[in-house]
Amino acid sequence: MAPQVAIRGQRSLLRQIREALAGGGPAQQRLDMVVRIIALSMVAEVCSIYLRRASGEMELFATEGLDVKAVHVTRMKPGEGLVGEIMRLGRPLNLADAPEHPAFSYRPETGEDPYHAFLGVPLLRGGRAIGVLVVQNRTERTYSEDEVEDLQIIAMVLAEMVASGELVSIGDLEGVELAPRRPERIKGSKFADGLAYGVAVLHEPPVASSQLLSEDVVAEQQRLVSALTALKDQIDQMLEGQHGLVDASYEVLETYRMFAHDRGWNRSLEDAVKNGLTAEAAVERVRSEHRARLGQARDPYLRERLHDLEDLNDRLLRHLSGDGSMARDLPDNAILIARNLGPADLLEYDRHKLRGLLLEEGSSASHAAIVARALDIPCVGRLAGLRDKVSEGDPVIVDAETGEAYLRPRPDVTSAIKARIEVRRQRKAEFAKLRDTPAFTRDGVKITLLMNAGLDVDLESLADTGAEGIGLFRTEFQFMVSEEMPRAGAQTALYARVMDAAGDRPVTFRTLDLGGDKVLPYMEAEREENPALGWRAVRMGLDRPALLRIQIRALINAARGRPLRIMFPLVASCDEFRTARSLVDTEIAWAQRRGKPTPSRLDVGAMIEAPSLIWHLDALLPMTDFVSVGTNDLMQYIFAADRGNPRVADRYDFLSPPMLRAMEAIQRACAETGTPVSVCGEMAGRPLEAFTLVALGFERLSMPPTGVGPVKQMVLSCDREAARRGVSALLKSSAGSVRNEIETLARKLYLAV
Ligand code: PEP
Ligand code: MG
Repeated sequence: MAPQVAIRGQRSLLRQIREALAGGGPAQQRLDMVVRIIALSMVAEVCSIYLRRASGEMELFATEGLDVKAVHVTRMKPGEGLVGEIMRLGRPLNLADAPEHPAFSYRPETGEDPYHAFLGVPLLRGGRAIGVLVVQNRTERTYSEDEVEDLQIIAMVLAEMVASGELVSIGDLEGVELAPRRPERIKGSKFADGLAYGVAVLHEPPVASSQLLSEDVVAEQQRLVSALTALKDQIDQMLEGQHGLVDASYEVLETYRMFAHDRGWNRSLEDAVKNGLTAEAAVERVRSEHRARLGQARDPYLRERLHDLEDLNDRLLRHLSGDGSMARDLPDNAILIARNLGPADLLEYDRHKLRGLLLEEGSSASHAAIVARALDIPCVGRLAGLRDKVSEGDPVIVDAETGEAYLRPRPDVTSAIKARIEVRRQRKAEFAKLRDTPAFTRDGVKITLLMNAGLDVDLESLADTGAEGIGLFRTEFQFMVSEEMPRAGAQTALYARVMDAAGDRPVTFRTLDLGGDKVLPYMEAEREENPALGWRAVRMGLDRPALLRIQIRALINAARGRPLRIMFPLVASCDEFRTARSLVDTEIAWAQRRGKPTPSRLDVGAMIEAPSLIWHLDALLPMTDFVSVGTNDLMQYIFAADRGNPRVADRYDFLSPPMLRAMEAIQRACAETGTPVSVCGEMAGRPLEAFTLVALGFERLSMPPTGVGPVKQMVLSCDREAARRGVSALLKSSAGSVRNEIETLARKLYLAV
């Protein structure tokens, strides 16, 4: 008769395993005991554990039922045999007649000839398989779903207990790759400049092995049910929270809702808890399986779904932790490791201890990247496979100059990076000394250095850098780091805080620049073929004037009689500017009718980002009070090269005739009409580019806070007239990039670039 299931009383089995692993004696003895216990309780004739060696080979580590002489002798090459197949697939293999399977690899030394039924499950930790647990029986049969589930739970507990090193010391398992140990370098993308060295802190740490098993199943079930209910409520609320202001597609939230209500997911969680896991461990168990399975999917749709599921799991864990916060105590030199970080996550950590940030995913426009830049925390993202390659406490380096991460670096790499960090520190200290020195060129031209901002945390930089104001306040950041659409009151409050912090210094508020690479999770707009050329920025604002008017009203309210500067992004035609400006007039009139204080002075400007305006400056400039050149976008449109696509983003040089002539034309037209003009793209913050801009006649530069010091140093050493002569000569003669020539010129002029 076929052996019948197994493990009722799984809880006591899990406890027995735990005790066996925690007991004294060599690791081998303890693992032998574990396979015996599992075989017995699963009524299996064979139970074996295979662990992965650093070479990738799978080695038989313990067995009950097979020939013990095969232990440490039988080794499978990566991908070989059924064990290799399970590692590859990251999921169980349940076979009535194993030798019939094409991947079956016969090993005479094991004496497994009589066994037909085979059930193997991966030992998963995070999304990584560290080994395989197998049970076998003589009789041909397929194991029941319950048995598969049971064995997966056992495998999870086993993997966690072994790999965490808490119960079996890692030394006992020399050579087994429970966690990656070799130095590794991963190439990613730079999200926030800088360098950092420290120890890895996992944003989503695995559940501690001491917290895997529950004390009280009923209580644990209740915890799970209430967390699931809270999760579903939260998603429902998010769905309802869509006020119809924008063409919000419900797709993403609907997918969340679908998963949250998914029977299979709920049942797997409930089963895991019923079998003795804590609710947190149950989430981990189900998550590991999904990760291992979907992580390999090539289909972008499936990978996206994994992303949604991960997010859902994180939310559920947060509900289980009760307070909804993930904040933890950090070591003094923490490097945070995460798949991605949601709105506000990064702000929950103690930023004084946070040295760097490594992300597996993300984009330079993602929340985490925006916040990291604002906090001046070096960040590298798009690091493939990061989370599975690093363990809590590993030494790591963030090299955001080159866009790389070093995991467990060799000592020579560490010393080199420490030396570079020291050089940066000294340079920073030099810049800090210049904070209160006004930025005059040697020939007496005042260059106004402003900073770009977008979040509360940026405001501290105003005082630290000595910037003379905020030349670009990106209002969409507040929207991008919120869970839901910020209401008018919240907008007013932020703008008022910014003006308070700036005091007498001017602040230029840019209205919402959404769309393109800036998408809101709660406002998923229709998918577009070419988002950068699509329905974004002021186009969205003009088509949905309610949103724009709420924002303008919030700005007027926040100004409360102070001066106000408003600027519109990505204006492509004079008509657009005229219409946008008329919305401001309407709101001013509205405030006046209600007797509310209106701004003491109002300046309304346009960003020059679309090349079309360059040939229509004669019509545009008289309509504006000022303009600001957004060189990030202007570059992308002049060269037709997506700024967010690493393949083309750095292909063309700002310091080449087409771009510089465009800049020259803008500067000249502004000078002729007396229109104040600034440059607010990232390049205004790079000394060599800023030098070129000064040479072209620009006198107002707005940049990321970290650029203010270096650019000021450059300005102080610059003779504008000499620079102007040099650059204009270069512009006449050159065919390609003039970067090298400008650099040579700058050196000849003894410039600090
Ligand atoms: C720009 O395009 O240069 C700019 C300053 O705006 P953003 O980077 O926010 O698009
Ligand atoms: Mg722009």
